[in-house]
Amino acid sequence: MRDRAMESVQEPTASESLYPASRLAAAREAAARAGLGALLVSPGADLRYLTGYEAMPLERLTCLVLPVDGDPVLLVPKLEQPAAQASPAGRLGIEICAWDETDDPYALAAAHLPPGIARVGVDNHMWAEKVMAFRAALPNARQELAGGVLGALRMRKTPQEVAALRQAGAAIDRVHERIAEWLRAGRTEREVGRDIADAIVAEGHVRADFVIVGSGPNGASPHHEVSDRVIEAGDPVVVDIGGTTRDGYCSDSTRVYAVGEPPEEFRRLYDVLRTAQIAQTDAVRPGITAERLDAIGREIIADAGYGEYFIHRTGHGIGLEGHEEPYIVAGSALPLEPGMAFSIEPGIYLPGRYGARIEDILVCTDDGGERLNLTGRDLVILP
Ligand code: ZN
Ligand code: ZN
Repeated sequence: MRDRAMESVQEPTASESLYPASRLAAAREAAARAGLGALLVSPGADLRYLTGYEAMPLERLTCLVLPVDGDPVLLVPKLEQPAAQASPAGRLGIEICAWDETDDPYALAAAHLPPGIARVGVDNHMWAEKVMAFRAALPNARQELAGGVLGALRMRKTPQEVAALRQAGAAIDRVHERIAEWLRAGRTEREVGRDIADAIVAEGHVRADFVIVGSGPNGASPHHEVSDRVIEAGDPVVVDIGGTTRDGYCSDSTRVYAVGEPPEEFRRLYDVLRTAQIAQTDAVRPGITAERLDAIGREIIADAGYGEYFIHRTGHGIGLEGHEEPYIVAGSALPLEPGMAFSIEPGIYLPGRYGARIEDILVCTDDGGERLNLTGRDLVILP
C-alpha cells in the first residue's frame, strides 16, 4: 500500500491533467461532425495539445493518425520512439508505432485508415512535402485543413490550461517588474533585449520567444524587435515580451516605459491608450463578440484623434501557440465563451516619432474576464 501511494505521488499528474486522454475522443467527434474520416497531425502545437508529445519536427514522419472509426496510432521514426514513449503520449493508452529507416511511413499511415477514405484533415502547419506524400499514399482522399476542427477545441481552455497560462503570465510579469535593472539611457536596444531574454528564462520559461525593445521612433513599428539604436533620455520605450513555459504555454505582455521625462504629447497619447485598453479589458465577458471588443477600444482612440494610428487588430488567442484563435478583430462575430484566452493590446503609433501599446492576456470567465498580467498599466518613468 505504502509503495503504491508513493508511486502515485510520483506520477506526473499535473501534465496528465493538462493533456487529458479525453481530447482524442473530442477531436474524433469534432472531425466526424465536420465530415472528415480522419485527422493527420504532425509535430507542433496540435500534436502536443492532443497527446502531450512535444515532437521534434524532422524530415522523417511523426504523425498522429486519428481515424473517426478505428483506433488512433502515433507513428514515429524508430529513433524517436523512446522520447514519444516517455512523453505524456506514452500514458494515453494508444499504440505508438515505430517505423524503420527503410519503411514507407505514409503507406503505414494509410494502412491504419479505412480503404477508400474520402476526406482527411491535415494539421495546418504540416510541411508541404508531407502533405504531398500523404496525397500520393491516399489518392482517393480529399485533404482539408484540420485547423477548423482543432482550433475550435484548442480555444476553449480547461481549468488546467488556464492555470498554466496564469503561471506563464506571472512569469512574464516578474520580468516587467525588473525592467529598471536593464533599461536606461546610453544602452542599445540590443543590449537591453539580451538581458531581458535571459530574465525571461530565469523567471520561469524554457525559452524567450520574442523580445521587442522599441525606443523612440522604433516604438512606432509594432513588430520592431531590437536594434543598435542607443536609448536616449526622454525616449518612450515599448517593451513587448513573451516566452514558453515548461508546460508548453505561452506568455505575452507589453508595457511602455519612459527613460526620463517623455514629451508632453506622448503623455496625452498614452492616457488615451490606457483608457481604451482598460475599457476593453473591463468589457470582457461571455457573449460579447470579438468585433465588439475590438470596436470598444478603437472608438476611444478614434474619438481622441488617433484612429488612423491604431493599425492592427486588438488581440489574438494564446495557449500552446503565441498566436492562435480567437482573434479579436473587426469582422469576427465570434461570441466569447468562458475559457477563451486572448490578448487585449491596442496601440497608437506615430511614424517617425514614437508609439505605445499596452498588452494583457485575459481569460473569459463565467461572468467577466480575468487578467493574467497584473503589473501596473500606468506609464512607468524610469530614472
Ligand atoms: Zn500579443
Ligand atoms: Zn505582445
